[in-house]
Amino acid sequence: MAEFLNFQCDCGSVTGTVACGSAFFRNRVMCYCDDCQAFVNHLGHEQSLNAFGGTDVFQVSASQVTFTSGKEHVKCLKVTPKGVHRWYTDCCKAPLGNTIGAAWPLVGLIRSSIVQDLDKVVGPISGSVFCKYANQPIPHDIKGPSSHKRIVVTMVMKLMIWRLLGKGSPNPFYSAGKAISKPQCLADEKD
Ligand SMILES: [Zn+2]
Ligand SMILES: [Zn+2]
Repeated sequence: MAEFLNFQCDCGSVTGTVACGSAFFRNRVMCYCDDCQAFVNHLGHEQSLNAFGGTDVFQVSASQVTFTSGKEHVKCLKVTPKGVHRWYTDCCKAPLGNTIGAAWPLVGLIRSSIVQDLDKVVGPISGSVFCKYANQPIPHDIKGPSSHKRIVVTMVMKLMIWRLLGKGSPNPFYSAGKAISKPQCLADEKD
């Protein structure tokens, strides 16, 4: 297993690394929620979605992620006022990933931003979540082994332990408890 993966935006201005860690410090999941889809569609980056509208997300603790260039291009938006923080680059409108907020030790990087082949390096998805928002029925073998409930329960448990272990900091998307770029809300834009 590689120790680090690289991620970057489409134009290459923004680059970074993510430590793979042991299996306990990562989770690869396919998310079909409408919020993920709205984010990617807003950026015009539909190539990040699979044929069923799913976003392939590589979840790690915040301290595993580091930017190596172009951090000034990293911007934040929310699909709804109370939505999670969604990160993209203003140089080429590439989606990078998601965070819940400064208090949570979680970063979910979108597969399309990761340079290496996740299938080869970290293996297949653990399962799928929010399948009801898929744009067509998802075949069982595409969904992966774990149920939505199992994935959520496991991730909440991991997050509590990651936090206890101090894995929430440093978090490259926050500085002094504030997002490095003020989150813009898509819902506001429509008003
Ligand atoms: Zn770029
Ligand atoms: Zn989602």
